[in-house]
Amino acid sequence: MQFLKLLARNQLALMGGIVLSLVVIVSVLTPVLPLLPPDVTNTADRFMPPFSEGHLLGTDHLGRDLLSRLLWGTRLSLAVGFAAAVAAAVIGSAIGIVAGYFGGRTDNVIMRLVDMLMAFPYILLALAIVAALGPGLLNALIAVAAVNVPFFARNIRGITVGIAHKEFVDAAKLAGMGHGRILVSEILPNVVPVIVIAMSTTIGWMILETAGLSFLGLGSQPPQADLGSMLGEARSALITNPHTSVVPGIMIFLIVMSINLLGDGVRDALDPRLRSGALTRPRPATMVARKDAPPNGPGRGVLDVVDLETQFHVGKRVYRAVNQVNLTIAPGECLGVIGESGSGKSVTALSVMGLVASPPGVITGGAVFHGGQDLVGARYETLRKLRGDKVAYIFQDPLATLHPLMKVGDQLAEAISVHHKVGRTELRKRAIELLRSVRIPNPESRADSYPHEMSGGMRQRVAIAMALANEPEVIIADEPTTALDVTVQAQVLSLLDDLRRERGVAILFITHDFGVVAQLCDRVAVMYAGRIVEEGTTDEILDRPAHPYTKRLMECVPELGEGRRELAAIPGLPPAVDKLPPGCAFAPRCHKAREECQAAPVELKTDGTRGVRCLFPEADVVEVTA
Ligand code: ADP
Ligand code: MG
Repeated sequence: MQFLKLLARNQLALMGGIVLSLVVIVSVLTPVLPLLPPDVTNTADRFMPPFSEGHLLGTDHLGRDLLSRLLWGTRLSLAVGFAAAVAAAVIGSAIGIVAGYFGGRTDNVIMRLVDMLMAFPYILLALAIVAALGPGLLNALIAVAAVNVPFFARNIRGITVGIAHKEFVDAAKLAGMGHGRILVSEILPNVVPVIVIAMSTTIGWMILETAGLSFLGLGSQPPQADLGSMLGEARSALITNPHTSVVPGIMIFLIVMSINLLGDGVRDALDPRLRSGALTRPRPATMVARKDAPPNGPGRGVLDVVDLETQFHVGKRVYRAVNQVNLTIAPGECLGVIGESGSGKSVTALSVMGLVASPPGVITGGAVFHGGQDLVGARYETLRKLRGDKVAYIFQDPLATLHPLMKVGDQLAEAISVHHKVGRTELRKRAIELLRSVRIPNPESRADSYPHEMSGGMRQRVAIAMALANEPEVIIADEPTTALDVTVQAQVLSLLDDLRRERGVAILFITHDFGVVAQLCDRVAVMYAGRIVEEGTTDEILDRPAHPYTKRLMECVPELGEGRRELAAIPGLPPAVDKLPPGCAFAPRCHKAREECQAAPVELKTDGTRGVRCLFPEADVVEVTA
């Protein structure tokens, strides 16, 4: 259903679909239409022009009715082209799947054979096959299918190689499934979309090739009409009676054009990455559409997030991922942002530098001040100059953020040279210094390692070194230790802590782990469903959590040496951000919730440093000043 909707949104594809459906319907109905017989000659009526009495499209050089021949010919051409496409797709995909799945010698032998087929010029090969088998439509079909098999085999093999080593295939092997079953139930469903896409984009091409063979007299044999043979027979009368060529020519054009447009549409609509983001390319910076005038700057700290609102607009739905978030980071300070998965932490962090993918992301309100200017709505060039230079990011998975084919030293050098003109030897020196500063042993030789040659902890150090490359004022770290084990996590945290004390760099540290917050952060903001529900200094919040959510979140953390204690998981799940309740979003999961909580939005009561968004807080921490 969604697929059809997406397809319909693409107007060209829709047009192609309509034209193609009409052609297909007409050619299916051809046998029952009141047409003249297509093959009966009548030399008295040769070359009658279109719109003649009894012959709507005129007649050809033998006086045969062109309309009738056109419809019968279209029927044949479509059938042959489609059959060739299906045959090529089935055989080619089967070869590709087997080669890609078994790999090794099987793959080698099969693919070299396929390469041999590919080494012949395309049309020559088809001609050779028809010459060997003898002319005739069926042989033309076989030839066209055969020359297209390598295309499918190559494509599908490539996809299968990627899938054959995925975890779910290993899991199927562990579960004791045989090769046959794995091929059919695990691999095939994953490559079918690719096969469909490849088919939809090549079917038009195959109709053309079949027509080409018929045109040369190697396909359909007289008197049988297909579009190619009609063109071939009309060739001698091209100048004197052009309508005999124009009629089949237009039909071929319509068919191939509509199939290609529809095929492109199918490809776009089947690609899941395009589903949420309409059919457009992502922009270099997040779209900004502020309803109200932006807040005034310049802000107090090195980075100020003021009333930030970021949403995702997907179709008619609005996901309110970040609502009215305020954060201030002073130079050299570490501010923690904590919350369950899905609470809007990453989107907040990415909004700062306009890194939220657009579409579907839109910043609908607020401002982000840095160095006296508002980054929301700043020109792309301004953002680009700041990204990685004054404001750097560290992400959760360093293997995904490092370039797999580049030595880490070169990647560090690149991070510097994007923003500063520095000579080659100097770049290398700085890269090694950076590696040393994040305490990588033997930085001189490590600079020549590839990311896959390093451990997870080491890779994350490289990512940190990269963030430090241009001596940024702010580092935004989005769960940088979540993928690491506890000892490495502790090392990375103490490294970050040292760096901030030595260099005075401010850190916005995102995490879901209170233990990490306690170790590193000066202040904490707790997020829930896109809002800040509590903020204060780390000690204050750890000692006296005020929001029931914060308190419950802390009760989920096991403590060593505290003896056995029941861990209190928070019941329920965070709300979906496209259907936020009018009142407190945590109320449905809160043991203290009363009716008032759900009725109206709850304000953040704050005295500037300590704040809580709750009507019935666990502790009275904020003097309420009206
Ligand atoms: P986290 O706190 O775990 O980092 P995120 O900031 O990544 O959470 O996500 C916040 C919310 O935004 C989530 O509820 C998520 O469902 C929603 N969201 C993120 N990306 C998209 C998207 N492309 N389309 C729709 N919703 C999204
Ligand atoms: Mg996240």
